[in-house]
Amino acid sequence: MKMENNLKFDELDLELKNYAKENSVPIIQDEGLSFLESMVRIKRPNVILEVGTAIGYSAIRMIKAGAKEVYTIERDPKMYEEAVKNVEKAGFSDRIHILFKDALEAYDLVKNVKIDMLFIDAAKAQYTKFFDIYTKNLNEHGIVVCDNMLFHGMVENKNLDEMTRGVRGLVRKLNMFHEFLLSNDLYDTSIYDIGDGMAISIKK
Ligand code: SAH
Ligand code: MG
Repeated sequence: MKMENNLKFDELDLELKNYAKENSVPIIQDEGLSFLESMVRIKRPNVILEVGTAIGYSAIRMIKAGAKEVYTIERDPKMYEEAVKNVEKAGFSDRIHILFKDALEAYDLVKNVKIDMLFIDAAKAQYTKFFDIYTKNLNEHGIVVCDNMLFHGMVENKNLDEMTRGVRGLVRKLNMFHEFLLSNDLYDTSIYDIGDGMAISIKK
């Protein structure tokens, strides 16, 4: 029975990856995912809050890695619909709570939810805001994981002239978020060149 379940799960996992590839959905890269799963296995969080569900891929994998519950926020109707379907297929509808709302306006939905881990993986220009809003819910010694910190290497590329204006703006905002994290005395932060760049901030 167990093996049958695992086989089914592997099938679903592959299906989601293929869907993401075909539809250009930016799900977390393998290397980043492996790092994220290790964080979950070490931290053993009861509750994770994720900003940016997409099709539910990372939320499902975090439950698989041992999280008890995941709250996850998504503003795109098509993504939300896919995520609901996929979470149901994975059999995790009772443990993954998908909230259909812009994360900048969703605080009321989770204001009473205490979390052990926050995973920020949505619009890069808003990372500082997401951090400010949702770290309010973080338990003592809680951790914040942020994906896409290096943005395909562009954050480290100092040659801003080569980028389009939109990209340049995003890179600037991500740089500001780096500064914000590294100078935040309430957290110890490390940024790693893993996947698309991952930051880990641990609440002191
Ligand atoms: N965590 C997912 C990938 C998320 S991709 C995984 O690894 O499987 C980023 C998602 O964030 C997109 O689906 C996008 O629609 C969503 N998003 C971006 N800005 C948002 C916001 N302000 N509020 C809610 N969702 C947002
Ligand atoms: Mg990402």
